[in-house]
Amino acid sequence: MPEISLRSHVLERHLITSAIPYINGIKHLGNLVGSQLPADLYARYLRARGHEVLFLCATDEHGTPAELAAAKAGKPVDQYCAEMHAIQSEIAKGFQLSFDHFGRSSSPQNHALTQHFAGKLDAANLIDEVVEKQVYSHADGRFLPDRYIEGTCPNCGYDKARGDQCENCTKQLDPTDLIEPRSAISGSTDLEVRQTKHLYLKQSVLKDQLDAWIDSKTDWPILTTSIAKKWLHDGDGLRDRGITRDLDWGIPVKKGTQDWPGMEGKVFYVWFDAPIEYIACASEWAEANGLEPSEWERWWRTDKGAEDVRYTQFMGKDNVPFHTLSFPATLLGSGEPWKMVDHLKSFNYLNYDGGQFSTSQGRGIFMDQALDILPADYWRWWLLSHAPENSDAEFTWENFQTSVNKDLADVLGNFVSRITKFCSAKFGDQVPAGGHYGPTELDLLNRLDESLTRYQDNMSAMEVRKSAQELRAIWASGNEYLQTVAPWTVFKTDPETAAMQTRLGLNLALLFGVLSSPFVPEASEKILNCLGHPAAPWPNKCEDFLINLTAGEAFEVPEVLFAKITDEDCARYSEQFSGKRN
Ligand SMILES: [Zn+2]
Repeated sequence: MPEISLRSHVLERHLITSAIPYINGIKHLGNLVGSQLPADLYARYLRARGHEVLFLCATDEHGTPAELAAAKAGKPVDQYCAEMHAIQSEIAKGFQLSFDHFGRSSSPQNHALTQHFAGKLDAANLIDEVVEKQVYSHADGRFLPDRYIEGTCPNCGYDKARGDQCENCTKQLDPTDLIEPRSAISGSTDLEVRQTKHLYLKQSVLKDQLDAWIDSKTDWPILTTSIAKKWLHDGDGLRDRGITRDLDWGIPVKKGTQDWPGMEGKVFYVWFDAPIEYIACASEWAEANGLEPSEWERWWRTDKGAEDVRYTQFMGKDNVPFHTLSFPATLLGSGEPWKMVDHLKSFNYLNYDGGQFSTSQGRGIFMDQALDILPADYWRWWLLSHAPENSDAEFTWENFQTSVNKDLADVLGNFVSRITKFCSAKFGDQVPAGGHYGPTELDLLNRLDESLTRYQDNMSAMEVRKSAQELRAIWASGNEYLQTVAPWTVFKTDPETAAMQTRLGLNLALLFGVLSSPFVPEASEKILNCLGHPAAPWPNKCEDFLINLTAGEAFEVPEVLFAKITDEDCARYSEQFSGKRN
C-alpha cells in the first residue's frame, strides 16, 4: 500500500505563534500549558492534515528583569540571555515542541524591524515626545523603573511597598508617594528625581480603527473581545503608552535606520519590541534555513502572499490586551499591509496543588524537572487533557497519576500491547490473512468515522479538552472491540475470522498511532515504527485507512509504551515538589 490518501479538504496556510516566554529562568508547567503546548498541538494537527504551517516562538529578552537576573548570575546580560535561550530551546525540544523556529527578541532582525516600526509610526504622527520625571539612583548608576523603588506605603505603613503599587493594601502608587524610598536593586537611598524624555505611542488616536477591527472579529470568544473592549472604552478609553526606557539592554531608539535626536542612549520598552519578534522570528527562520526574504514575507505581508494565511495566536489571558490592542496598534499605525491575527486562543491559569505556580517563589513543577522524572508524553497528555480553557485548572499528583495510568497505560498502551502480543503468539510477527468483516466490524467503522469527524472538528476549533476526550474514546473503542469479539476464543473454532479480527486490531493500533500524534508524539512514533508504517497518513475514511496493514507484513511487539505511576512514585514526587525550588 502506498502511504498516500486523497484528501478531500482544501489545503490551507497557517501561521501560528505562541506567546514568547521571558528569558529570566526556566518556565513552569503553567506557562507551558498556557501557550506553547496547545500551540504545538494545533501545529502538529494541521501539519498532519497536510496544511502548510509556520509555527514560531522565541524568547523575550529585554527589560530590567533580564538585567537583574544576569547581574545575580554574575554574567553580562547578553551572555546570560544567550545561555538561557539555549537552555529554554533544549527543554522545548524535550517537550517535543515543534517550532519551525525558536527565535530571540534580541536578534538583529528584531532590532531592525522594531526601529522600522517606530519610524513608520513617527511618520504617521503617532508618536509623542514627552518629558517626564523619573527616579535616578546614583549608587546604581541608572534610572529605576517604578517597581524597582521600594519604601513605606503612605496608606497602610507597609515597609516594602513598590513604586507602582503597595502589595499589602493594593493602592496604586507613584514612586514619589513612598516614604523613605530606596533602590530595590542596591538598597541605596541616594536617589534623585530627574527629567528624562520618552516616546509615547498615541494609541488613543487609533481607538476607532482598533474598535472597528475588533468588531469585525465575530468568531472570537466573548472573553477575548470583552477584555479588549474594556480597555478600549473604560474610563478615559485607550491610553497612550510609553514605548521607551532609560536602560542599556534593549533595542536602541531609532527612526528606521536614522538616529532619533534627543533619544540617544535610550532603548525601546520591552512590550513594544516583544510582539514585533513574532514577525522578526519569521525572518530569522528564513535566514537560518537559507531562504530568500520573500519566503517569510509571504507569511506576514498581505501584499506579498499572506492574504490567504490564517494567523492564530496562543497566550495566557493576562496577555490578551497586548495581542488585541497594543500589537495591532503598532501594525495598523504603520500604515503597511501586515498580516493581522485572525484568531486568538487564550487560556486561564493552571494552579499547583492548592496554590499558584510561581516562578519567583519556585513553587510547582518546572519544565526541566518534569522531564527529569517522566517522559514528555505523560506531561503533554495530562496538561492538554486538563487544559485551563474555560476556567482555571489544578494540578494534583493524584489526578496526574490517574490520568496517566487510566488513559495512557490502561487504554492506549494496553490496546497496542494486547493486540500485538496476541497476534505474535497465535499468528507470528506478521499480519495474518483471511476472513471478512461482519456486522460488528461495519458498525465499528461507522462509529469510528463519527468519532473521527468529531475529533477533527474539535481540533480545528482548538477545543483542547474536548479533543482529548474524543481521542480517548477512540482508543477505548479498540479495547471494547477486542472484548466484544474475543479473537482468543474465536481462534479455537474459526481461525480465519480470528485472523480478520486480529488484522483489524493491528490496523486500529496504527490508526490510534496516527490520531494520537498531536498529543503524544513520542508514543505515536513508536507505534508507527513497530507496525512498519512510520509515515502512515492521516485517515480520510476509517474503512480505507484500516487496510493499511496487509496480510504478510511484518511488525514488532513494542516495548511498554507507558509505565504506570505507582502510589509510591506519587508520594515521592509529591514530597519532592512540595517545597521551594532550589
Ligand atoms: Zn499600603
